[in-house]
Amino acid sequence: MRIVLLGPPGAGKGSLASLYHQRLGVPHLSTGEIFRHEIARDSRLGQRVKRYVTNGRLVPDALVVEVMASRLTTGSRRGFVLDGFPRTREQADRLDRVLEHRRQPLDGAVYLTSPESLLVQRLSGRRVCERCGENYHVRRMPPKRPGRCDRCRGRLITRKDDEPATIRKRLAIDHRTATPLLHYYKRRGILYRVNGSGHVNTVFVRTLKLFRRNGWLHDPTTSLSRRRNQRSPRSRRISRIAAA
Ligand code: AMP
Repeated sequence: MRIVLLGPPGAGKGSLASLYHQRLGVPHLSTGEIFRHEIARDSRLGQRVKRYVTNGRLVPDALVVEVMASRLTTGSRRGFVLDGFPRTREQADRLDRVLEHRRQPLDGAVYLTSPESLLVQRLSGRRVCERCGENYHVRRMPPKRPGRCDRCRGRLITRKDDEPATIRKRLAIDHRTATPLLHYYKRRGILYRVNGSGHVNTVFVRTLKLFRRNGWLHDPTTSLSRRRNQRSPRSRRISRIAAA
């Protein structure tokens, strides 16, 4: 399947995309993660985007599209899930042109809806591993050992852009930029709204129904059952929390 995940910061796009990767084998590309990784290793790209990312402002369209177009070249049979991209109409338009050129048009744009109070709560409790980028939440998805990543034992930190003042700025920016983007996909007839409240597993199941109904999954039954037996620590942790 080839989809973009849309929704404001805190809507759960990253956690959900991570589950698609673990359980369905669909590659996950997140612009935010790419940028944070490049900033951490102080690459040229990292230096170019740092001031935007740490202030919660959008990186210029031309630069984002250039970065994503180059990462999308390694196409997989299972498609991709884009998270955090596109963020503007201009980015959406240019993404479409790149995919049309490759004869791999998008299947859908999935918009996760959530009340603002929930978004603020999710973002302010979020912690991220400074080494591998894995996401946690102090209450909803705590690590086994406080302050340490389950996957690589790296230190968990609060993202600079998850500070309260920056959260409000990011939500306001998102509100302004998301509307034209939603109109764009609606006009194309590929916009799907999904309730993003509740545990990530619940949202995963909601979206899975949508994917199956539309026939977007490459081989849902086999990949799901095979992957259930090879879950990563994060996926097992998510299931544990859901069962609790
Ligand atoms: P995220 O992890 O998706 O919340 O992204 C973190 C930050 O990276 C954003 O606040 C922006 O500064 C930057 N960013 C991520 N994706 C994009 C995009 N598609 N367009 C512009 N800036 C982006």
